[in-house]
Amino acid sequence: MSAEPLVAVLIGPGGVGKGTLAQRLVAADPRLWLSRSWTTRPKRATEKGTEYAFVDRPTFEAAIDDDRFLEWAEFHGNLYGTPLPQAGNDVDVLLEIEVQGAEQVLRQNPDAVVFLILPPSMGQLEDRLRKRGDSVAHIEQRLSSAPAELAKGHELASFVIVNDDVDRASGEILSILEELRRQRRTPSKKD
Ligand code: 5GP
Repeated sequence: MSAEPLVAVLIGPGGVGKGTLAQRLVAADPRLWLSRSWTTRPKRATEKGTEYAFVDRPTFEAAIDDDRFLEWAEFHGNLYGTPLPQAGNDVDVLLEIEVQGAEQVLRQNPDAVVFLILPPSMGQLEDRLRKRGDSVAHIEQRLSSAPAELAKGHELASFVIVNDDVDRASGEILSILEELRRQRRTPSKKD
């Protein structure tokens, strides 16, 4: 019996390493398909250009009008969204998004599994933001919104993962996903 695909969502403050974790998860688990988001944010100097579909605001807004997103949100002045269609039915979907988007996903799919990714400390979060080449103003903006994102994240998340080490944290998420799949294949007798 094949169960409905899982929808796994990574949330957490900017700089916590969600992108690296997401890449690690899809590399390790061929059943996971990582959605590629659209954004109106300019590409960072440290980015290759494949991280997002980088589009201008009119293009993004036209796609909103055409209902082409599973979810979308404005975050620090830029638009971010998960485009439709999603992957086929035989793979589990991984989304790496911010909290407003995760709320929309949960509204549409209450079975989605949300992982809140935490930094080992706020000092390490700041270091990571600096290393990826963000401006001082940008870093301050991201750090100032982190407490609200964390509060909302705790409300939404089924699991909280500390990203102290990418191998350990990705291993923890993969074990949880494996257990969730196992539970879905063997529903309890009262279902
Ligand atoms: P960044 O600009 O650092 O790449 O991303 C800023 C925030 O937007 C991060 O928390 C990231 O997870 C989130 N984000 C990336 N793609 C999407 C998306 O498709 N939808 C939503 N709602 N947030 C996204």
